[in-house]
Amino acid sequence: MLVSGAVWLLLSHVAAHSLAQRNFSSMLEQQANRTMELSEWEQRWQQHRTGFHQLEVHKMLQNNYDKVVNGRSSVRFFFPLCGKAVDMKWLADLGHSVVGVEISEMAIRQFFQENNLTYNEESVPSIPGAKLFQNTEKSISLYQCDLFSFSSSVAGQFGAIWDRGSLVAINPKDRDRYAALILSLMAADCRYLLDTFLYNPDLYEGPPFFVPDEQVLGLFGSSCTVELLQSEEALNDKWRNWGLDSMIENVHLITLKAPK
Ligand code: SAH
Repeated sequence: MLVSGAVWLLLSHVAAHSLAQRNFSSMLEQQANRTMELSEWEQRWQQHRTGFHQLEVHKMLQNNYDKVVNGRSSVRFFFPLCGKAVDMKWLADLGHSVVGVEISEMAIRQFFQENNLTYNEESVPSIPGAKLFQNTEKSISLYQCDLFSFSSSVAGQFGAIWDRGSLVAINPKDRDRYAALILSLMAADCRYLLDTFLYNPDLYEGPPFFVPDEQVLGLFGSSCTVELLQSEEALNDKWRNWGLDSMIENVHLITLKAPK
């Protein structure tokens, strides 16, 4: 009787575990084939459908700034899929430098104009068709190109990365190559701040796409330490109108386990 009780307990644990596994992978399955073409993103900018843009510096970056900078000065920050995030100006004003990558030339020009920065533009010999936009002080360098044509041979490696609206915006099928690219851009002391969302993907198709913590660990855990810094219910009217009942925003700090 005692033995069968123990066996039952064990079996129920196994069942609960596989149910959780099935939920997590079936939730990912829901958005696995969703794709947004680069032209669709450019169109969004043309049509002012850029609800992701925030007028204020992102709260999660401000809250975790000390942990990212970690006592260093003049840190080189990388912004994958940068849009026209005002966070870039904020960091430059604090004495850091910023390199961003963005497909929409319109977004990049708006960034410099709206922040009253004079800027230059030039072509990028190593990336056919790409352009580099820089403010006069050269503290902010924005590359207009597909993120996947960017590499460490273009602008070296970085001491920090602010990933907001980036891992969650690239097409879900590209996550492995995205992680490989990000890892190749991390200097040995890099502190990578990653913002992700958890919600019910049956209710909304993304972007932003659903990225569970298990996947963050799967993508970066073999070479990095992943620490969950903050987890907040971020549901607002916009997301309520999309039909969502919960939108958890998680912020992770990712650092390389061993020096390269
Ligand atoms: N990080 C920004 C923008 C997030 S939205 C912010 O916080 O406001 C995602 C942005 O990535 C859009 O501006 C879109 O034009 C751009 N984008 C999407 N896919 C891209 C790709 N493969 N390469 C470069 N930019 C891309």
